[in-house]
Amino acid sequence: MKYFYGLEKKDLHEWLQSRNYPAYRATQIFDWVYEKGVVNFQEMTTLGKSLRDELQETFSLASLTQEKEVDSDDMETTKFLWKLSDKSFVESVLIRSGDRRTLCISSQVGCPARCAFCASGKEGLLRNLETAEIVEQVMSVQKYLSFEGEKITNIVFMGMGEPLENYEAVTSTIRILIDLVGLSQRKITVSTVGVIEGIERLEKEDFKVSLVLSLHAANQKLRKKIIPYARKYLLEDILEAIKKYSKETKRDVTYEYILIKDINDSKQDAIELAKLLRKEQCTVNLIPYNPVQGLNLSRPSSDVIESFRATLVGLGIRTTWRYTKGKDIAAACGQLALIKE
Ligand code: SF4
Repeated sequence: MKYFYGLEKKDLHEWLQSRNYPAYRATQIFDWVYEKGVVNFQEMTTLGKSLRDELQETFSLASLTQEKEVDSDDMETTKFLWKLSDKSFVESVLIRSGDRRTLCISSQVGCPARCAFCASGKEGLLRNLETAEIVEQVMSVQKYLSFEGEKITNIVFMGMGEPLENYEAVTSTIRILIDLVGLSQRKITVSTVGVIEGIERLEKEDFKVSLVLSLHAANQKLRKKIIPYARKYLLEDILEAIKKYSKETKRDVTYEYILIKDINDSKQDAIELAKLLRKEQCTVNLIPYNPVQGLNLSRPSSDVIESFRATLVGLGIRTTWRYTKGKDIAAACGQLALIKE
C-alpha cells in the first residue's frame, strides 16, 4: 500500500487518469485531505463509492502515529514524538512566537552529520524518511493547531537529519507544502551542514526556499571537529555554493553558529568569523549551546556570548542571538534525541 501524503499533484492526476477518472476528482480529493483534514477515504462524500473504495485499497493516510506530546513550561514550544511503521521514532517541534507558528520537522531517522553537540547525530544515520512521513508531521500538527483556530505559518527543516542527504523526499515534500498545503515558498527554510551537490540542485528547482548553513566554526580545521561530516567538503567551496545560491534565488542566507564553551567562543573565533563573512549579504544567528545528556560540552557564560556578539556587530556582521525555546523539554537545537523502542 502507498502512502497518500507522498503524492504530489501530478502523481494523483496520473493515478486517476490511469483509471479513467476525470482530472477534477484530484482537486476534490486534495481538498478533502488538505483543507478538511479527512483521514478516511470513505468520508469523502462528494466522490462515488467505487472511487472511494479504490482509494482505500491503494492508499493509506497513516504513516506515523503520535507517541507523545510535551509542552514547555512557558507553553511556547510543543514537542511531538512520532512512531513510524518500522517502530523507529522522529520528532517535530512547534514554536509559537507572536503570530508565527513555526514547525521544525525531521527528514531522517538519525543523522549522518554527527555534530559533536547534537543528540540526533550520536548514532549516525539510520534511514531516510519517506516523503509521506515528512508531510504527515506537518499535517498532524496542522490538525492539532486547528483546534486552537491556528495554522502553521513557517516550516524549517531543522529537526533530525541532514535534509539535503534525503534530497528527493525533501524536495517532493516542499512541492507538496507549496502546492497542496498552501504554504508560501518564502516561509520554508532548509538547513544544511553544507552538502554542496544538494545546494547546487536546490538552486535549479522551480521553488526558492531560504537556506541556513550550520557553520559553527570559521575554519575547516575546527569545523571538522565540530561537524565530522564536514570533512567531505571544503568550507570555502561550501561558501562559494551558498553565495551562488543566494545570488540566483535572491534569498539572503543565514549562518547558524552554536556557541560552545572553550571550543568556538573566543574573541579570536569571532574575528575570524567576521573576516570569513565580511563580503557576504547574510545574518549570523548565534545559538548558545543547549546541554545534551552524555555529551561533555557546556554553554559559554552570558558575558562571553555578549562579547562574541559585540565583536561580530562591531566588525559589521548582522547578528542575531537566538533565545532558545523549549530547553526544558529538550526541544531546542541539537537536543532532539534518537529514541528506539
Ligand atoms: S545538528 Fe543537525 S546536522 Fe548536526 S547531527 Fe544534529 S541533526 Fe544532524
